[in-house]
Amino acid sequence: MTRLVLFDIDGTLLSGGPAKGAFETALRQVFGTAGPIEGHPFAGKTDPQIARELLRLAGFGDGEIEAGLPAVWEVYLSELETRLSTWPMTVLPGVPEVLDRLAQEGMALGLLTGNIFSGARLKLTSAKLWHYFPVGAFGSDHEAREKLTPVALERARRYWGVAFSPRDAVVVGDTPRDVACGRWGGTRTVGVATGHHTPRELVEAGADEVLEDMADVGAALAAILGD
Ligand SMILES: [Mg+2]
Repeated sequence: MTRLVLFDIDGTLLSGGPAKGAFETALRQVFGTAGPIEGHPFAGKTDPQIARELLRLAGFGDGEIEAGLPAVWEVYLSELETRLSTWPMTVLPGVPEVLDRLAQEGMALGLLTGNIFSGARLKLTSAKLWHYFPVGAFGSDHEAREKLTPVALERARRYWGVAFSPRDAVVVGDTPRDVACGRWGGTRTVGVATGHHTPRELVEAGADEVLEDMADVGAALAAILGD
């Protein structure tokens, strides 16, 4: 049976890039401040969650935040697109090979990311990886990452016509939040320590398998497919 492999983006498939600066510019243009953005942890959170946290810390109420967010995303996406043209994302080691092999073996590939949809598309397009992922669940679908697994499963069902159960799916990500998201949704989970978290932290979060990175394509495939 085909399995559904759901990848996080930042720290898992890609690293670097100009997104944080674009996000900061957008918050400043719309709200006049980016709050305490320096040192604020972004890893594993959805874009709307990060924006809300920073703006609450800057003293804004939820009504004001809701009203301003559409303009924030508009500026963010425009800034991101411009900046990516000269500062593309870095593809992490082994990633294209792992995606090729999974596709060759008939696996269904999707995204499970805190990025808003258009941000995910811009980042992955800059890295020439967007075409691997016909479906996904995004930060623009739900502010709470743990709510995204059922969204991804439903989109996969509609796209492939296969009723994937959580047991047929695996979430691959670089943070304890990715692991928690997969566990909450009932999937297997693979932690990859190419972001800001150590293998130990990912094990402690309950990941079924943990990789230092995906440079060893055979090891990565074995961990992802669970065989
Ligand atoms: Mg990540």
